[in-house]
Amino acid sequence: MSKHFATNLIHGGIEQGYREEYTGAVNPPIYLSSTYHQKQINQFGPYDYTRSGNPTRAVLEKTIAKLENGTDGFAFASGMAAISSAFMILEAGDHVVISKDVYGGTFRFIQQLISQFSVSHTFVDMTNVKEVEEAIQENTKIVYIETPANPLLQITDIKKIVTVAKQYNCCTFLDNTFMTPLYQKPLDLGVDVVLHSATKFLSGHSDVVAGLAVTKDEQLAQKLGFIQNTLGSILSAQDSYTLIQGMKTLETRLEKSSKSALKIANFLNNHASIEQVYYPGLENHPGYHIHHNQASNAGAVLSFELHPSVSIDAFVQNMQVPVFAVSLGAVESILSHPATMSHAAMPADERKVRGISDRLFRLSVGIEDADDLIEDLQQALQQKTGVTL
Ligand SMILES: *Cc1c(COP(=O)(O)O)cnc(C)c1O
Repeated sequence: MSKHFATNLIHGGIEQGYREEYTGAVNPPIYLSSTYHQKQINQFGPYDYTRSGNPTRAVLEKTIAKLENGTDGFAFASGMAAISSAFMILEAGDHVVISKDVYGGTFRFIQQLISQFSVSHTFVDMTNVKEVEEAIQENTKIVYIETPANPLLQITDIKKIVTVAKQYNCCTFLDNTFMTPLYQKPLDLGVDVVLHSATKFLSGHSDVVAGLAVTKDEQLAQKLGFIQNTLGSILSAQDSYTLIQGMKTLETRLEKSSKSALKIANFLNNHASIEQVYYPGLENHPGYHIHHNQASNAGAVLSFELHPSVSIDAFVQNMQVPVFAVSLGAVESILSHPATMSHAAMPADERKVRGISDRLFRLSVGIEDADDLIEDLQQALQQKTGVTL
């Protein structure tokens, strides 16, 4: 019997015979063992060495595979470890078409690291299908999508890009960190490999750095397993456990956060001190219709630009509820300033071309009371001079 998402969040990794049988413990044991006793020569158990496989990590990998409607999940030491490992399916001479609005770490990996191994790339506006098609070369092997993108929440039409990629025999990778499988299931839309920074919404408590990859293609699964074992950037048993526990409440947390995000987006959208709000849940967002065709919710991240009459320093000083930090996707709201934080490495004119102004803020909405967050924004926006009243 196939179960609903919320049920799989709790039991997805356990029901296929992964429960600890000796005690019946409801939580998966944290197997802190690097190696496993072998009863005899030439008699092998399910595990031999933890880099290759660990029972705690296996519960997590089963769970994410099930949630994404995939067959195989792989857990890595960070989102970047998952992403960079997945790119290892490439060979020298291959080419990648990738969104120019991709996560900064992925941008750096493509531009500064894998390029050293004779893998070339073209950055494109992934929302423009024609531009994507024109960028595909004979040696293009991967088309890399991130939607919604960061920090302006641009929306890529997943099915259209997948169709073009398949026409040219390219694999599609998609970074599903912002939506999670709760709201967007890329494998169902034809994507080949789904990637996550599980550091964000999946874990949800700012207490673990982790990455996941999922596929339902047998050949890709074999390759990813080989790469995971060969490069060795696996997630530890302890961190696997932390992530398993965090994921159980994904729906409960993200539903609340997303509801609050919509409320906050509407509040900011009507506020005189706000120039612009970027949130795919607002009908004036250019990707609104495409997004709602392929995802069931706009999620919990929004960005907004302050009016020149509000001092950005004072705004940050006066905001009291959210933490001011990089990262997103946690129970606590996280306010960030892309120009000096996530996109600081990008030259100022490049930021300008991409619409990332110095007045832009990103808010990842947590599970605090939405009205407290709105009241906090209201008071911080009112204090235009930066003088605390
Ligand atoms: C944070 C993030 C990453 C990188 O993940 P780490 O866990 O920090 O390595 C990748 N993609 C997106 C969209 C992210 O937000």
